Amino acid sequence: MGYVQDFAAGDKDQRDLLGGKGANLAEMTNLGLPVPPGFTITTEACRAYLQHGGEPDGLAEEVTAHLAALEETMGRRLGDADDPLLVSVRSGAKFSMPGMMETVLNIGLNDESVQGLAKQSSDERFAQDSYRRLLQMFGATVLHVDAEHFSEALDAAKSARGTESDLDLDAAALAEVVETFKGIVRERAGREFPQDPREQMDLAIRAVFDSWNTDRARLYRRQERIPEDLGTAVNVQAMVFGNFGMDSGSGVAFTRDPASGAQGEYGDYLQNAQGEDVVAGIRNTVSLADFAEVDAHSHGELMSIMARLERHYRDMCDIEFTVERGKLWMLQTRVGKRTPEAAFRIAVHMVDEGLIQMDEAVLRVTGDQLAQLMFPRFDEDADRTLLATGMNASPGAAVGKAVFDSDTAVEWAERGEDVILVRKETNPDDLRGMVAARGILTSRGGKTSHAAVVARGMGRTCVCGAEALDVDAKAREFRVRDGVTVSEGDLISIDGTTGEVFAGQVPVSDALVVRHFEGERVDDDLVSAVARIMAHADGARRLRVRANADTPDDAARARRFGGQGIGLCRTEHMFLGERRELVEHLIVAEDDTARQAALDALLPLQRQDFTEIFEAMDGLPVTIRLIDPPLHEFLPDLTDLSVKVALAEQRGEEVEHDRVLLTHVRRLHEQNPMLGLRGVRLGIQIPGLFEMQARAILEAAADRAAEGMRPLPEIMIPLVASVRELEIVKTAILRVAEEVQESRDVTVEFKVGTMIELPRAAFLADRIAKEADFFSFGTNDLTQMAWGFSRDDVEAAFFSRYFDHGIFDVSPFESLDQRGVGGMVEMGTEKGREVKPDLKVGVCGEHGGDPRSIHFFDSVGLDYVSCSPFRVPVARLEAGRSVL
Ligand code: ADP
Ligand code: MG
Ligand code: MG
Repeated sequence: MGYVQDFAAGDKDQRDLLGGKGANLAEMTNLGLPVPPGFTITTEACRAYLQHGGEPDGLAEEVTAHLAALEETMGRRLGDADDPLLVSVRSGAKFSMPGMMETVLNIGLNDESVQGLAKQSSDERFAQDSYRRLLQMFGATVLHVDAEHFSEALDAAKSARGTESDLDLDAAALAEVVETFKGIVRERAGREFPQDPREQMDLAIRAVFDSWNTDRARLYRRQERIPEDLGTAVNVQAMVFGNFGMDSGSGVAFTRDPASGAQGEYGDYLQNAQGEDVVAGIRNTVSLADFAEVDAHSHGELMSIMARLERHYRDMCDIEFTVERGKLWMLQTRVGKRTPEAAFRIAVHMVDEGLIQMDEAVLRVTGDQLAQLMFPRFDEDADRTLLATGMNASPGAAVGKAVFDSDTAVEWAERGEDVILVRKETNPDDLRGMVAARGILTSRGGKTSHAAVVARGMGRTCVCGAEALDVDAKAREFRVRDGVTVSEGDLISIDGTTGEVFAGQVPVSDALVVRHFEGERVDDDLVSAVARIMAHADGARRLRVRANADTPDDAARARRFGGQGIGLCRTEHMFLGERRELVEHLIVAEDDTARQAALDALLPLQRQDFTEIFEAMDGLPVTIRLIDPPLHEFLPDLTDLSVKVALAEQRGEEVEHDRVLLTHVRRLHEQNPMLGLRGVRLGIQIPGLFEMQARAILEAAADRAAEGMRPLPEIMIPLVASVRELEIVKTAILRVAEEVQESRDVTVEFKVGTMIELPRAAFLADRIAKEADFFSFGTNDLTQMAWGFSRDDVEAAFFSRYFDHGIFDVSPFESLDQRGVGGMVEMGTEKGREVKPDLKVGVCGEHGGDPRSIHFFDSVGLDYVSCSPFRVPVARLEAGRSVL
């Protein structure tokens, strides 16, 4: 198969080959919609080009043949001196990368054909305007001349004529601009602007290929997790002209509101404009409703095409269109990006409209989107000073220091500050700053502007088009009409849900969705959309969801959020605070009596901890992990204590206690504490410690049971590598259980199981399963032990290099390394169940709340995942999506 395909030959399912834009242009062509004809150079050609550093054999000939066919169809030849065919050369990868790559319009114009175009159109101004646009776009994107040189020259031409609008430049003025632009190209690019139309086209195609690898495109792909090796397609398409006078224009539209999800079309239109003018904010656009006033016929046709596209794609679409002298042309469509709240609303609306089924609706939203809906919101009852209101472009409540350029945003964010990036409007070079910022605020542009589109894609809060702001990036400040000035570093708060901008730091309150999860009755259509989708996901999922909770409050919240038990209750924090002293006694105890006394003092406190947790989780399993971290974490720091003792000795003070403590701190000091005396090793090394914890758990449970509740403790032993370790500890626990049973005279249902967090344990899971009632994969430690690096040491040290080299595409601490660590999870589960077919297997650790990892855990047959209480709804949703 060749490298080039006509629009008429493709369809929407060919995005891999044709890119999203090409595939959808093909689809629209075949739907019979008015699409200017053209052809697509495939992503395969781009991959070959990038790999070999040049056009693959045969590409030039194919392009020639398809161009000839296009010329035939149009009855014009590219760049013909009397009646030129003009084309656009448009990038378009499989996944949309808004504004990241290049597009060049009006290719085929030169000193001669501009005259031909003028004659044919009887419009000299239009011809010159098109030529200057070609020079400008070609100069910037193909010849890499800094775009500012052109925009400054254009501004100068406008001010020379005392105007701010490009529309006031007449043919003569534009012809002058053309000459100036040619001079800029000559000077800055060191070559003449190419007069040969085919050379223009070939260079533009190359530039599109090359644009796949610009820094900003790479950064965007990493951010959006788009694979590096896809490449982009190139679309060559006959031009239609929105800059052909006031009965022409260019617009963008959505079939529903991409910010709220509300039904009804949404968009912007700009008269006598071409291409990106409408999103670049050069003049003020009109809404689609006002477009109906300007050109009722085109508007009507657009509305019916939009309705048709939405039915056809069964999803919200976004659209780019142009009107040339009253005739509507479709230039792009795709399933539109949307905010999380729009995603939930649109999904259920479409179910109600009969376009999709509930299963599909659940698949159309994601756990990450749900997580965003759970973010806090600004407190409406707080004292707030409203500075301005703009468009609610991307929801959320963001507070931070105002900064006015991307470098500052990145710098300040790196030193840990929250910043809001404030710009007149953003362009692709601002991407770094937008990534670094908590929120983005612009004074120009609508919901389809660059800032809005990119922010929505990243889930960043954004308010755009706050026209009351006078942004002065040079002075690093913005002024508001009534004389208020906000300077770099001043705190501001922006609400991307309402479009409001406030001075200072506005306090935040719980999101409506969270209040709903908390059990409050909330009358809100977004909340009911979420509730319907959650109910369907819960009905579908196989995987159970538990929470990691160490306190009664967390346990109660987890239960309200739908948690089906506790998968990890850590006990170490129960040894901090006032109890630290008791732990010190335990560690420094010289003999059994002293040690037992320390343990006896801890027992009732520890029992109380568990009592409340069992109450909160009555009837649901509670997995309690016995103490895990190295002991020295409970003692003072070695250096601090040494200094303290030395100073006290100098002053001749009594230091006996500290000196004894110091010897123990020295004794327990470890080079690699993560690989030292911790987990089950502690339980074996310090007699009585695990027994005390087991006794506290079982006594608390017995007391609850005596009151008629149903506590279901699962005692979990950390860091087991050998079945012998587990045997020793388990025997001791069972002895304690018998004693408790005798003394309390109640039977408690309980289990003793183990974490699988060492590679050895995963390999020997069949042996370990003989002694374990359950397994819980501790994927944090398992990741560290499998890779042989510690999270705290490596993330900042070298991970970014690893991303650059493609060794990771995401941190293995954030999303499970499925092949390596996941392989151990799968093997451990299989081996365990060979011995005990009904072995209960779960996972605790941050991966339990990560969508991709959840799908993996479901696929290898785990019984449950456990995650932080706040992630529980996210995990429920993803567990549902995993089976649908
Ligand atoms: P992007 O991917 O950045 O949106 P596009 O390739 O869609 O870039 O081009 C941007 C805009 O240029 C389009 O929305 C459209 O307005 C204009 N454009 C592209 N091709 C043509 C064409 N053949 N005729 C008229 N306008 C075009
Ligand atoms: Mg663009
Ligand atoms: Mg486009």
